[in-house]
Amino acid sequence: MGRRLTEILNSSSSGKFRLILVAAFAVVSLLLAAALLSPESPFFYLPLRIALSSRRPRIYDPTCDSRRDHHSYSATKYHRTPSPQPSPYLLAKLRDYEDLHRRCGPLSDPTLNPQEFRTDDCKFVVYAPSQGLGNRILGLSSTFLYALLTNRVLLVEFGPDMEDLFCEPFPNSTWYLPETFPFRFQLQTYRFRKAYSFGTLLQKKEEDQQKKGGKFSLLDSSAPALLQIFLQDKYNDYDKLFFRDENQGFVHRVPWLALVHDGYFIPCLFQMQSFRSELEKLFPDQETVFHHLAKYLLSPSNEAWGHITGFYEAYLAKAEERIGYQIRVFEPKKTPFPAVMKQIMSCTQKHRILPQSSEVALRNETSKSILVASLSRKYYEEIDSMYGERSHCGIAVYQASHEGKQHFGDNSHNMKAWMDIYLLSMSDVLVTSSMSTFGYVAAGIAGVRPWIVMIPDPYHPRGADEPSCERAVNIEPCFHFPPWFAYPDQPGTVGPVARCEDVSWGLKIVGG
Ligand code: GDP
Repeated sequence: MGRRLTEILNSSSSGKFRLILVAAFAVVSLLLAAALLSPESPFFYLPLRIALSSRRPRIYDPTCDSRRDHHSYSATKYHRTPSPQPSPYLLAKLRDYEDLHRRCGPLSDPTLNPQEFRTDDCKFVVYAPSQGLGNRILGLSSTFLYALLTNRVLLVEFGPDMEDLFCEPFPNSTWYLPETFPFRFQLQTYRFRKAYSFGTLLQKKEEDQQKKGGKFSLLDSSAPALLQIFLQDKYNDYDKLFFRDENQGFVHRVPWLALVHDGYFIPCLFQMQSFRSELEKLFPDQETVFHHLAKYLLSPSNEAWGHITGFYEAYLAKAEERIGYQIRVFEPKKTPFPAVMKQIMSCTQKHRILPQSSEVALRNETSKSILVASLSRKYYEEIDSMYGERSHCGIAVYQASHEGKQHFGDNSHNMKAWMDIYLLSMSDVLVTSSMSTFGYVAAGIAGVRPWIVMIPDPYHPRGADEPSCERAVNIEPCFHFPPWFAYPDQPGTVGPVARCEDVSWGLKIVGG
């Protein structure tokens, strides 16, 4: 038989036969690999587990100057309004989380014994960022709260553009997704969404069930090893069902979640029975949720802190009052500069944020510094020409950067954005721009209720008699694209949630 096979292989048709053999081998291997790597297969866990035990070359740096010193730069220092304090329950939860992260997270401390890790008990949520820094910070904070509520370990998929903006938040570990993670930088692709998203899975299961007849429940389904949760602004009706209580039991059984989104979805968590009572214990003052999360999670790295404090000490520290203007125009070509300036000045003067420029020289005003954060230099120049040092009114106007336009994938651009956000958050008074997450983050970190200027929007024009700005009811950010069933007027929604001041279709946490 052996000889016959050799003969066949050596015969004239052996080339063809060999080709068939090789092709068959390739097809079988491919099928096998596909079966092993399907999220339903137990082998799917293997590369995910191996990824966790691999050592990342980055060295964990336990020093974080901003964590130690940020109190000395608190915006509320001069106004004698105490900074919001975290509840003891939240502090205890954070300590438990740190233990969980140390136990389950990637090995960052080479002295820890890999045998001590029991990743079978551990569940993870990976945050994959998109859009600008303000959106990312809101997305990251929301994902972290979801991790706290569901006992998952938060890992971040940061590209080089996000390097060195923040200190590592969790002691003796890292929050970086290991470089050996099998789907690194694919989590946001359309192909990944099609293959692994919660929405796609739900849709498929529902369609299958419709063919068979009868009612469909996710609870009867086996949980995959990995599930993408797609919550970006263009998410569909199936994706949105992530925010339904009845689906959380299923999601809970999935060991690896990849959250792809860039919004502050926490108001929707408050609308869910599954989380409300725990949220109430964590945040007795529900209007400071973002403040506490951001203060804990997002300390500027030593490099960022050097830029921030350097600028602050050089220009802002000497004034008795600091006023931050954050001017964000989404469509600069379609939004005339004079129209934006008119809104800003009308708000400033109506609410006496700054004195009328004609009055100021005559009065002995408190010394003030104005920080103008904007991509454009024109607003700084205009405000400086009205109030700046040349007008001898004790007001000095500054701008830390003017980048012209939003850049993507650029670390130094993101560093400047982080610097502007944090400098704004050191203001005593804040004037921010409607719809801008950049402004929400600055106000949230500051703990200062901003005046939100209604920037003219070519797509959503406002009536002429509408106010130029509104004082935010609290320091909570707005979630711009909630699912329809989360609105407070929907039956069964009882969370402390209301429509936002600046975005009528958005939701924010109010009261409680
Ligand atoms: P949003 O688009 O206003 O909601 O805020 P994002 O932060 O999500 O995206 C805007 C991006 O544009 C920022 O992350 C920065 O990259 C850039 N940007 C916008 N405004 C400013 C600003 O005042 N200063 C700096 N340095 N960058 C800005």
